[in-house]
Amino acid sequence: MVTRRPNLMIAISIVLASAILAIAVWVLAQMRDDALRRAQDSVFNVSLLVERDVSRNLEIYDLSLRAVIDGLKQPGVLDLKPAIRQMVLFDGSVSAKDMGSVFVVDEAGNVKFDSRASPPRHINLADCDYFTVHRDSPDVGLYISHPFVPKMQDRDVSIALSRRISRPDGSFGGVVVGTMHVAYFRKLFDGMNLGPGGSMALMLSDGTMLMRRPYDPKVVGINLTGTANYSRFAQQPSGDFFGTAAIDGVERWYAFRHIDMYPLILDVALSTRDMYVQWRHRAWIIGALIAALNVTIIALAILFSQQLRHRRAAEDELRELARTDGLTGVNNRRTFEENVDDEWHRAQRNAWPLSMLLIDVDSFKGFNDLYGHSAGDDALIDVARCIAQNVRRPGDTAARYGGEEFAVLLPNTDEAGAMRIAEQIRAAVQALQHRHVASSHHVLTVSIGIATAHGEAMATSRALVNAADEALYDAKDAGRNRVLCYRSVGQGAAGDRVVPPDAKARNVT
Ligand code: GH3
Ligand code: MG
Ligand code: MG
Repeated sequence: MVTRRPNLMIAISIVLASAILAIAVWVLAQMRDDALRRAQDSVFNVSLLVERDVSRNLEIYDLSLRAVIDGLKQPGVLDLKPAIRQMVLFDGSVSAKDMGSVFVVDEAGNVKFDSRASPPRHINLADCDYFTVHRDSPDVGLYISHPFVPKMQDRDVSIALSRRISRPDGSFGGVVVGTMHVAYFRKLFDGMNLGPGGSMALMLSDGTMLMRRPYDPKVVGINLTGTANYSRFAQQPSGDFFGTAAIDGVERWYAFRHIDMYPLILDVALSTRDMYVQWRHRAWIIGALIAALNVTIIALAILFSQQLRHRRAAEDELRELARTDGLTGVNNRRTFEENVDDEWHRAQRNAWPLSMLLIDVDSFKGFNDLYGHSAGDDALIDVARCIAQNVRRPGDTAARYGGEEFAVLLPNTDEAGAMRIAEQIRAAVQALQHRHVASSHHVLTVSIGIATAHGEAMATSRALVNAADEALYDAKDAGRNRVLCYRSVGQGAAGDRVVPPDAKARNVT
């Protein structure tokens, strides 16, 4: 089936290549999904880890502040010697990592106790947000301030954690405030594996940036309100999404969460580029291999189908060669034998007349002797052309029947039609005007015998051929260069029906 239709082979190869391509695309899509899922998992895990660390540390700080407040409430603490009082009040807080100073501030904003100095430094904090917020509202709990550069000592950017000191009657009695270096968050962020394009940020719920990785001192303290990402952070307690950072314009997969109990939002993000870097590398390799495979499959199919086409063309040529006569190019005798049988049966079935001409070159032996065998060959080619030019109807066939004999089959043609064609052929050969001095006609001529099968008259195709042969014999006998129709016994001699164009031929009748 495929070997008979070369194009089918190419079509099959294209279908196969498309199927391979479709499978590859599907596999790559799965791999891409896996890469996204892995990135999501790692971002989620990192955010969980950081949240736990931050909330545990804040809890410790908060406990330190509460311990100071509790200490202040203890009777007699205020009467202790300053050195001992320092130890009692600030023992827990000074041990906390990354903690700056802890102050006890009175209701006017003056530092009363200072974890780093006794007597305390003279500082007034009445204008700081962590003081005013507690003064104005009793229910703030733990307050986390905006980042600031402390007024004294180390000038590392810090945030303040503060709690209100309430007097027994509920009125404002000052605040306990501890500072904390934002560097703590930086160290924490740096310890996480996020890839070169990853980012992390910790911000206050109001959108104030406390720390960001990659670290840039300029972004600490900026407000993100109004950015697309912050709007999403503010909407839900936690979530994830694809987004682009307003700060650096990089597209990332974000996971964010509000840190338990504290007014803080943490986001962790992997850059889309990093997420798919491995996948992209593999996709290139797989894509190239699949492309090479598909090109090979299709190229092989094209090559193979070309071979098939060549083979078929060669076979057709051979078949054609086997059917035709090498010298004259008309059908050979074997083809004629096949045709005459087929046509005879067809004529019988359809009740058509079937005519046959048998054409023989006159005195051809003499022509060869006179002009040479090669000139004889050329003459035969010319005669064949004269025949072919006059046998044009589809279904009509001309063949070389023997050495210098030709046969013509005319399906669905009666005797009169056959005679007309035979006469045209005879005249055409004569008109070639090939000199033949040994012939009584002085030029090369042919004699033609005609037989027509109609109804039951000729019982086999063989009988038709014999009849034509007999008519030809009679034409030779009658002087050559003429056309004679076969007449069965009782109908008179074959020579009865001659249609010669010239007087000489008519004389024979
Ligand atoms: P007639 O008029 O009775 O047919 O005479 P003739 O000479 O044609 O009869 P004959 O059958 O004796 O001669 C046929 C000659 O045709 C014999 C042969 O040399 C020549 N012949 C047959 N085939 C070829 C061919 O392919 N090429 C050439 N040049 N001559 C051929
Ligand atoms: Mg002959
Ligand atoms: Mg002859």
